[in-house]
Amino acid sequence: MKKIISYALALATLAGCTGKQAGQQQPAQEINFTYMADRFADLEILRYRVPGFENLTLQQKQLLYHLSEAALMGRDIFFDQNGKYNLAIRRTLEAIYTGYEGNRENAEFRNLETYLKRVWFSNGIHHHYAEDKFAPGFTVDFFVQAVRSLNPSALPLREGQPVDQFLDEISPVIFNPSVMPKRTNQSGDADLILSSANHYYSGGITQQEVEDFYGAMKNPNDSTPVSYGLNSRLVKMPDGKIKEKVWKVGGLYTQAIEKIVAELEKALPFAENETQKAVIEKLISYYKTGDLKQFDEYSILWVNDTRSEVDFVNGFIETYGDPLGMKASWESTVNFLNKEATERTKTISANAQWFEDNSPTDKRFKKKEVKGVTAKVITVTMLGGDCYPATPIGINLPNSNWIRHLHGSKSVTIENITEAYDKASEGNGFTEEFAWSDTERALIKQYGFITDNLHTDLHECLGHGSGILLPGTDPDGLKAYSSTLEEARADLFGLYFLGDPKLVELGLVPDAEAYKAEYYKYMMNGLMTQLVRIELGKDVEEAHMRNRQLIARWVFEKGAPAQVVKLKQKDGKTYVVINDYGKLRNLFGQLLAEVQRIKSEGDYEAGKSLVETYAVKVDPKLHAEVLKRYSKLNLAPYKGFVNPVMKPVTNADGEITDIRLDYTEGYAEQMLRYSKDYSFLPPYNE
Ligand code: ZN
Repeated sequence: MKKIISYALALATLAGCTGKQAGQQQPAQEINFTYMADRFADLEILRYRVPGFENLTLQQKQLLYHLSEAALMGRDIFFDQNGKYNLAIRRTLEAIYTGYEGNRENAEFRNLETYLKRVWFSNGIHHHYAEDKFAPGFTVDFFVQAVRSLNPSALPLREGQPVDQFLDEISPVIFNPSVMPKRTNQSGDADLILSSANHYYSGGITQQEVEDFYGAMKNPNDSTPVSYGLNSRLVKMPDGKIKEKVWKVGGLYTQAIEKIVAELEKALPFAENETQKAVIEKLISYYKTGDLKQFDEYSILWVNDTRSEVDFVNGFIETYGDPLGMKASWESTVNFLNKEATERTKTISANAQWFEDNSPTDKRFKKKEVKGVTAKVITVTMLGGDCYPATPIGINLPNSNWIRHLHGSKSVTIENITEAYDKASEGNGFTEEFAWSDTERALIKQYGFITDNLHTDLHECLGHGSGILLPGTDPDGLKAYSSTLEEARADLFGLYFLGDPKLVELGLVPDAEAYKAEYYKYMMNGLMTQLVRIELGKDVEEAHMRNRQLIARWVFEKGAPAQVVKLKQKDGKTYVVINDYGKLRNLFGQLLAEVQRIKSEGDYEAGKSLVETYAVKVDPKLHAEVLKRYSKLNLAPYKGFVNPVMKPVTNADGEITDIRLDYTEGYAEQMLRYSKDYSFLPPYNE
């Protein structure tokens, strides 16, 4: 499970957005570092620094290097998972972008460039957050003419396919808004599988057929079930039979998976210890067999490796992209321990049992014994697949419920990413515009960074790991609502305890006022400012955004009689005002108890009702106002990152003596390089 960037400040950006950030102090050895890498559409591309990399041992650097190479090898997989035409479209656009000999300054070409940058960002033709297909800003005539002007060998044609036929096949996918309109459809009524454009399913298989197929596999008496369907596409064959095509060496996506495995094998000799070596070996073995039992064994080994400083995730992990929450997208992050900041999370995990015992949930749903909550703060060195360029700020894994229950989970806060968000948003006018008064602005300025990070720590380290399912509860029982409710549970856990005096006692916050900064930002974001990410007239779709609106709207409504939170008008503008932070905390606690009950009992109807009532619909008048105020700030609502370039340094004998990081690569430059050096799949993977 991931925590995506949630705080209001990070929605914002540098004013102006060109060139170097004024007044940014850089260490002398990183003279070339600028946070800003690119800006287009609703997106801004930042860089992240990797402080402390220079001080690692050569062995650790080499381990990070090979794991980072492995993190890039699977990029094409995620493109294909997001839609069956994504690779063909990306390659066609790249061929035009690099080979077009017409006027590159005209509006058509420039709009094609923007579209390509969006496709790179979203790993496909649908918005990475809103899930809708982009509308191209260039005409089909321009596209056809540009494609025809290229040498056909530069195009991703099917075998023997004439260019005109190729254009007939691919143009509607780009230009016709009714073809594959949504990547992942989560809205209640339609067949969620047939109405989703993603490539986790194919052959016209229906939601009912998918549910029946996996329903038949599940044994309610199996207390340690594998994650059914996690690493495969489910296909209805022409003869009507239903078949799983497994993503593994020798299976679907083998060309990329073989490369991942080869890099993992190169990483092995540099493993820090035997435990870590066993983790890498098991992952290799799982990639070779596709056996989900081995994936569970790998997850257990991985969660128990708490000694290694270098760590990584590489595989089919998160299921947000599948409306039924079973199929996992491919992703990778590579990182090392931030020792200093980890003292904070050590304190949290050392007190995990106290938090569990004192949470406002019903006793029946509590863990009697909280196992192995390991939490750390990390520094990432490479992001890949579903973590690139849009990046989580916290991760808690593994996702399997029984493994979490029996073996615990590993939780991380990615502080070099939150730092980049924070730095990039300095002085951009966002809180000036949206916060009610100087009191709230001062709170945010004084405590915002620490309480944000702490909320992420609590969300990941304790929130996702807390509570139990009652015996016999189907872990997939909440279906399309499970991601939203799970994120709400973790967020509420963090919110509730941020305001607990225990945090002051533990020295995690400086005083009993600090939590108010996060409460204010959370409510402002959930009730108002996150709407800047949504087009007027559209609903809230993405799980983390739904979760935040669910929480904010629920406590707003339940607290209305006591006027706990109000929306007030000043000079024709709407603001969030919190009248009673203590009562607000109690409301967070009440909702936490209810969401935990829904999860523990698998109460689908109650979960559906919570989400549909509070999380989805938007007040159109407030939405329009927020968009108008936001547009005046000239900021981008979504952000992502380019990776540093890792450069091995060799001596005269060709031996590697060091690995250096280079932060100068541009966004388009990096994407084109990845498409050249890390692209192994054929354009169509059927
Ligand atoms: Zn989460």
